[in-house]
Amino acid sequence: MPQKTKDTPMMQQYLAIKKDYQDTFLFYRIGDFYELFYDDAIKGSQLLELTLTARNKSATDPIPMCGVPHHAAQNYIDILVDKGYKVAICEQMEDPKLAQGMVKREVIQLITPGTMMDQDPSAAKQNNYLTALQVAKQNYALAYADLTTGEVKVTSLHSFSEVMNELLNLNTKEVVITNDLAKDQQQTLIKLGLMLSKNKQLEESSEFSFTAQRIKDPNQRQALQILISYLLATQKRSLGHLQLAEAYQIDQYLRMDHTVKANLEIFNSLRTGKRDGTLLWLLDKTKTAMGGRLLKQWLDRPLLDYDELERRQDVVATLIAHYFERLDLQKSLQKVYDLERLAGRIAFGSANGRDLIQLLNSLNQVPLIKATLAKMSGSALDSFYQQLDELTDVRALISAAISEDAPISITEGHVIKPHYNQQLDQYRDAMENGKGWLAALEAKERKLTGISTLKVGYTRVFGYYIEVTNANKALVPEDRYSRKQTLTNAERYITPELKEHETLILQAQDRSTELEYQIFVQVRDQVKAETKRIQQLAKVISALDVLQSFAVVSEQEHYVRPELSTTSQDIKIVKGRHPVVERVLGANEFIPNSIQMDEHTNILLITRPNMSGKSTYMRQLGLIVILAQIGCFIPAESAELPIFDQIFTRIGAADDLISGESTFMVEMKEANQALTQATSRSLLLFDELGRGTATYDGIALADAIIEYIHDHLGAKTLFSTHYHELTQLSERLPKLRNVHVGATEENGHLIFLHQVLPGAADKSYGIHVAQLAGLPSPVIKRAGKVLRVLEAEGNDLADGDAEISEQIPLFNLTTEPEPLPTVAEDQPDPVLQNLAEEVKATDLNQMTPMQALNLIQHWQSLL
Ligand code: ADP
Repeated sequence: MPQKTKDTPMMQQYLAIKKDYQDTFLFYRIGDFYELFYDDAIKGSQLLELTLTARNKSATDPIPMCGVPHHAAQNYIDILVDKGYKVAICEQMEDPKLAQGMVKREVIQLITPGTMMDQDPSAAKQNNYLTALQVAKQNYALAYADLTTGEVKVTSLHSFSEVMNELLNLNTKEVVITNDLAKDQQQTLIKLGLMLSKNKQLEESSEFSFTAQRIKDPNQRQALQILISYLLATQKRSLGHLQLAEAYQIDQYLRMDHTVKANLEIFNSLRTGKRDGTLLWLLDKTKTAMGGRLLKQWLDRPLLDYDELERRQDVVATLIAHYFERLDLQKSLQKVYDLERLAGRIAFGSANGRDLIQLLNSLNQVPLIKATLAKMSGSALDSFYQQLDELTDVRALISAAISEDAPISITEGHVIKPHYNQQLDQYRDAMENGKGWLAALEAKERKLTGISTLKVGYTRVFGYYIEVTNANKALVPEDRYSRKQTLTNAERYITPELKEHETLILQAQDRSTELEYQIFVQVRDQVKAETKRIQQLAKVISALDVLQSFAVVSEQEHYVRPELSTTSQDIKIVKGRHPVVERVLGANEFIPNSIQMDEHTNILLITRPNMSGKSTYMRQLGLIVILAQIGCFIPAESAELPIFDQIFTRIGAADDLISGESTFMVEMKEANQALTQATSRSLLLFDELGRGTATYDGIALADAIIEYIHDHLGAKTLFSTHYHELTQLSERLPKLRNVHVGATEENGHLIFLHQVLPGAADKSYGIHVAQLAGLPSPVIKRAGKVLRVLEAEGNDLADGDAEISEQIPLFNLTTEPEPLPTVAEDQPDPVLQNLAEEVKATDLNQMTPMQALNLIQHWQSLL
């Protein structure tokens, strides 16, 4: 009976290893290939477009198999990990030629989405965070690290929604959890597209003791331990580049949840999901990848700290004032490679000669940067100057040891410079000068022996020899020469000197590459010992890079330094602009708008139909606040601003795709979040809140929400609506002011002025727009009548204010809404009847799609 394939010793070894890596693609090294077997092979061959073959095809039970050459494995690994899988790399742990019996194999690394070291160059400006989540009695501790840079942070959160929010902000792909996390919460995280991983066991490690030094909270320490244990278990090596963990509280920063960031288009455009047309896109003039990542982090967490903001503004002002120095600085920064990731690779043990040369070239820029900063001394840049460590020792080491054109491989030589190591020089001498040396030996021996025909030669089998013809044999110095081979007319000899050189020459190649590798690793380890200094340098340079980026944008776009106040909540923006819309439209096309909200004004109620520029105006304020609180200048003629603690938005009507909730529910949840969390120091931007429900409901809710903000929160609020009824709120809410966006008519065309003016908009404005849009005149006339009917029915909320606001349940979202007033069946509703007639009379063939759309919107507004 043929042996079953799976019983062969190798397959037994495979299965034993695979047992521990069930949910993982096991890349099993056999010679020059990594092989995948069984289901891994079937699935892998599909995902990687590889040919599926079988091991032991002739056996009764052939095993599905596919493979990739080891030198090309990285690409395949990246593809799988990008698709959200894990890959275990199983190596041969001994030379198959020397192994007795089965070659020993071990998994040397587990690569997961959160622990990918090899970053696609297009992701250079992005962090890749692995997160660990620890739960104890509704308290969540979150620890996260970017393995490529060594950054480690921890925070505590008090609700699961805060956790989700933070995970989305971090754009983390993988979360290490424990069984303490409730099953439904695990499901939610999976729905968000996160990979959930678990730790086999928690381990004490020097990495943990180091990173956790400053962390006092036991929950945070535990989260950190989960994180570090997982990193060590998957990477299976020491991780000396992990930095001290920094603890932060989310309320130390300007709080915005991820929907706010989405609505304000900070990182992704709402329309395309891309970076173009976002605040990040506008601001990113950074020259280094590290600067790019730091800019993102700053945008993610704008500051509340007045002093730090002043410092940043001072630097921006200085850099704006020193144009030529700024150019020099940019030139230097341009030549600085990704120090953080280089330090990561060096510590990780995956750096090659080129990486060290990149480090050297980067470090060589530091003295130039310092010289540039020195030209601006006496300014806010002095502290940067002082913090810049030139790492002279590391530079000296690398420039002495590593060849400028070192290859990617570290095992094939040409990495170490001449004159760095004597032994290596000798090997190289032997290799390169072997021939010359032999010629010299020949001449020397001819002289010593007096045999003029003496020859030095080489054969593959016998190696080097000195050949003497039989005629001259008598002249051979027997004491030094030993016989090696006899030919018919000559004798071949070897001398101890030649023997020694033979060994040297023949082994020089092998030895020199081996020695080069050793020296390289030594040098790399020496550099690794300075990881912390390199990381510190990286921090200083990236901050400098972000600030020069601010200076460039501020100058190019004519921004001003905002005056921040810690005491007043007044907003005074003169001729402010929306930074991104202005950039897209061109500075001449954009109409600036001022915003003034002093202590007597907390709410601006903005009326105007769509397309007038309301949301641009609201977003403009949000973006200006963010720019101010990251330390950048802002698009305005002048500005005084408070330091806001939180921004809430309700802009646009994006359904929450994850939870599958309706627009209205999302709207109400966002409103609820704002109303429960906002303080008098917060900024609220509500665009068309309440539009997702029936008109009466919508007006009632909007009314009550505005009143609540006015009476209880005192937060600065922009509230836009096209419920004209709401404008009367100004009569009973003293801190509410009506404004509207101006429009005018020219030759029958409606021109939006995009200018925000005092007072409410004209009531019949919508119908006016419909008319200008070319709707049939019966429709316009009808609409006018309906409007008058509605007005006559007196849907005026401002009158019965106290009564109405008390009757309608507002924030208790779990209770059913009050049923809308209905019309008895035998009494047809005149509005409905009219509408039905209009619908019937409408000739779709006479309309553009836009007109049809406007008409439907108009109908909806009547219902
Ligand atoms: P709304 O929210 O009122 O529907 P938007 O804010 O979306 O309107 O603006 C509609 C269009 O008007 C946008 O495409 C924008 O380019 C333009 N716009 C808005 N504000 C201005 C402005 N201040 N200056 C020039 N164009 C503007």
